[in-house]
Amino acid sequence: MSKRLQTAEVSWSDGSPESSRFGDIYFNRDGGVAETEHVFIRANRLQERFARHQGHFVIAETGFGTGLNFLCARALWLSTVQSTEQQLHFISCEKYPLSIDDLRQALAAFPQFEDGSRQLIDAYPAAVEGFYTLRLDGGRILLTLLFGDAVQQLARLQARVDSWFLDGFAPARNPDLWTPELFEQIARLSHTGTRFATFTAAGIVRRGLQSAGFRVEKLPGFGRKRDMLAGEMTQAPTESSPMPAALPLWAHPPQRLSNNSPMLPVIVIGAGLAGASTARALAEKGVPVQVLERHAEPAQEGSGNAQGALYAKLPANPTDHSQFHLSGLEYTRALLTPLLEQHAGLGGLCGVLQLALNDKEQARQADVLAADNYPETLARGVDREEAEQLSGLKTGAQGLFFPTAGWVSPADLCRVLLDHPLIQCRFNHPVHDIDHDGVHWQIQSHGRFQAQSLIVCCATSSRTLGPLSWLPLKPIRGQTTQAEAPASLPGLNTVVCGEGYISPAQQGRYCFGASFKVGDEALEVREEEHAHNLHILTRALPELGSALTERSRTGRVALRCSTPDYLPIAGPVPDLEGYVERYAKLRDDARWPLTEPPAYLPGLYINTGHGSKGLISGPITGELIAALITGTPSPLPASQQRIIHPGRFIIKNLIRKSL
Ligand code: SAM
Repeated sequence: MSKRLQTAEVSWSDGSPESSRFGDIYFNRDGGVAETEHVFIRANRLQERFARHQGHFVIAETGFGTGLNFLCARALWLSTVQSTEQQLHFISCEKYPLSIDDLRQALAAFPQFEDGSRQLIDAYPAAVEGFYTLRLDGGRILLTLLFGDAVQQLARLQARVDSWFLDGFAPARNPDLWTPELFEQIARLSHTGTRFATFTAAGIVRRGLQSAGFRVEKLPGFGRKRDMLAGEMTQAPTESSPMPAALPLWAHPPQRLSNNSPMLPVIVIGAGLAGASTARALAEKGVPVQVLERHAEPAQEGSGNAQGALYAKLPANPTDHSQFHLSGLEYTRALLTPLLEQHAGLGGLCGVLQLALNDKEQARQADVLAADNYPETLARGVDREEAEQLSGLKTGAQGLFFPTAGWVSPADLCRVLLDHPLIQCRFNHPVHDIDHDGVHWQIQSHGRFQAQSLIVCCATSSRTLGPLSWLPLKPIRGQTTQAEAPASLPGLNTVVCGEGYISPAQQGRYCFGASFKVGDEALEVREEEHAHNLHILTRALPELGSALTERSRTGRVALRCSTPDYLPIAGPVPDLEGYVERYAKLRDDARWPLTEPPAYLPGLYINTGHGSKGLISGPITGELIAALITGTPSPLPASQQRIIHPGRFIIKNLIRKSL
């Protein structure tokens, strides 16, 4: 089934957007902001609740539309909650996203929200079904857009919602939304005390919310509308379970840090992209973090190349694997956009050209275009002439162009992420081993450290730590080449990927690569791998490749940390023996229902195995781990958490009888 969504059919009447599909308005023509304040903000009592709230506050909405409700809630949060250690997490479903042009036009009517609108427009994801978590306002606001049908997407969400904005067009015009299944999901995701508000007073909505457990009140509606509804959950059905989850096997451990209690320090081992991203996501949720790093600086291993390409390779038919990469790409893009304005040389969203340099890749790209699963705002086919116009140089083939993608200096990004008042870095601190004493993790480094929650983000070295020695991590050697840009050729304008990759020159030098040597852990620079890098560059960009062959070059070698299925390992760490004991029946019956909850090592998490995709997978998995530890909404749907879950290898090996 296609994951590509139809965009909204918007008509404009007196400058206000209206949906031709539903025959209904997005917001009140006589005062969109006043309506939002009346219906959603005041009836949810947000001003007083924000003012007295500690920690994270979660709003979920049906129908993102133009984002006006979001912008109003964001503005109230930023003006009411001064602490940068508290986050507003706004989750919103949208089946027919506005096109970026319609979004821009709709929001132009609200100059008071210019700053929020600009951030939203910059980060707005392509209209492909999935979860897109966007970090705005330096991490004070998280926006998770659930693109797709509200009921289907809410069923994949793990969150505890404090307030609902029920805003998906009137039930008479959109009966498919206001179903018993929607009210079931609202009940599942609510806690006792959760409030809701909605513009409609229709009986079907009142009864649905009452049956979900809400006490429902009728209030005066806005403008010409007589009534509206608001109310509070009196007794939530799922109160006793730690977090509404999907299959028991992939359920989370109960949270160790509560939303509203003082945060205990957490230790992160490793200051590469995974570690820096995890530490930053925790700090933005108000958790103090200590980072232990064996080198004298961050990002000295796999995250230390001068430039890395930021893009996702999309298959013709999306899978959970590719959807995870797309969510990760959009997350990193939103994280990066404001940072690029503040830090020169950190990267550039200059577009990525993915060239089809051989028959196999040509056929694959033709399939991608024929399947038509992605909008042109994400990726489009370009012939060789257009590829050359975009890149500014002669190319070896036609390809796909990703206009919103680009490149990043991963080491600089790590430094920026670690620069936060709640993060303390201890460099030159190699960790020799870790051990749980029944209460805390004891961490042996220079001196002893202890923590209740510990996150291991140290690539293949993670295996040197006793409880993680079973993880199937393998090193893959990669050498990049750097050479001075030739004055005889115009500069490269975009990232170009083919069999390798190259980014626009920085400070007069190109960085390109990379070799791929599985199992080779040697770190010396080799002439033959420079020759390989130049060869694949010449196939992609013939003139530039030849010109660089003449130049002197330097190289850098790093080990990618890879896994058997080329997906990262991110989540709570299983207790190997406990898993084997609980799931041993899988050896005899691969279809044995996995009803037993998993056994985890208390407070231990891992974020590693990003291979060469750390720029798209490291930041979002950092956000995921921080969400698991703090009990806040997951940035990823349950099906994607499952494919990166550390326990997946134990289950596979039991089924194969190799464990
Ligand atoms: N809250 C919005 C704002 O601030 O601009 C206005 C929302 S508009 C009244 C209703 C939205 O609900 C539309 O964007 C529509 O596409 C969306 N919608 C309708 N049915 C839906 C469904 N089944 N799942 C998800 N979104 C839906």
